[in-house]
Amino acid sequence: MSNLDRAPVPSVCGGRGFVVAEPVRELLSPRHVKLGESTEVRRLLPNLGRRMIGAWAFVDHYGPDDIADEPGMQVPPHPHMGLQTVSWLHDGEVLHRDSTGSLATIRPRELGLMTSGRAISHSEESPRPHARFLHGAQLWVALPDAHRHTEPSFEHHPDLPQVTAPGLTATVILGSVDGATSPGTAYTPIVGADLALAHGADVRLPLEPDFEYGVLSMSGEVHVDGVPVLPGSMLYLGCGRRELPLRAESEASLMLLGGEPFEEELIMWWNFVGRTQAEIEQAREDWMNGTRFGEVHGYDGAPLAAPELPATPLKPRGRVR
Ligand code: MN
Repeated sequence: MSNLDRAPVPSVCGGRGFVVAEPVRELLSPRHVKLGESTEVRRLLPNLGRRMIGAWAFVDHYGPDDIADEPGMQVPPHPHMGLQTVSWLHDGEVLHRDSTGSLATIRPRELGLMTSGRAISHSEESPRPHARFLHGAQLWVALPDAHRHTEPSFEHHPDLPQVTAPGLTATVILGSVDGATSPGTAYTPIVGADLALAHGADVRLPLEPDFEYGVLSMSGEVHVDGVPVLPGSMLYLGCGRRELPLRAESEASLMLLGGEPFEEELIMWWNFVGRTQAEIEQAREDWMNGTRFGEVHGYDGAPLAAPELPATPLKPRGRVR
């Protein structure tokens, strides 16, 4: 992580609290995490020094992986609590099953949005047969206290609104961009957008000054506010911006993630977002006992066992470490 701008100064910005009021350029390097035996993902959030961007609390970027002769993604049934999951693909497809009875195949630039509320379980797998390449991002959005006990639900939105400018096509995943609004249900002021840039594009994307933002590079060579951001890296931008300069040296794609700074302190452990150690312990116990999180039908394999809780108590933390 390096802050290429001036030292960030905490001050009031936006509706609800403290955030870096000045625009910053803070490059976040990915942590390489093994998922299962063959898959490696690049984890951008939580990151050293930065845990959230708006309500975005978890970002994994994976691929492009050649899975022509491989099973591809195989994530057995596992639980979630207190969050929404966003599945976003550039290549391939993901077959989603969950305990509310959903069965959906998510394809590139379609939104798979699962709201866990108090409890849900799901599995994700590459269908058979599947496309040769798998490339995408898996993201979590923390639910605010007022909505985190809601009923679980799943939304599949194959047609999302787009905003275009010369050399840019922005697909709105959550929230709004330049007046175009996603049909996905959001519980906090938030935005997620896929930005497809043509080679040579030199554009300015309108932003909401009260939001903080980060940009994940998915592919290509692109400068974000003058900073080269390599695929699999993220640039944190702070807030106080009305527009974002983007320049593409090749065909390139980005994910824009932003929102009103999330002021509640959270405990994130395994697949759960809670507020107290007791809640997390209870969720783990309920999953291992087969209660509360329902059942996923049709997945060929056993559910995931929860890991052991750490010996040291889990502490609620805010958006910055
Ligand atoms: Mn999951």
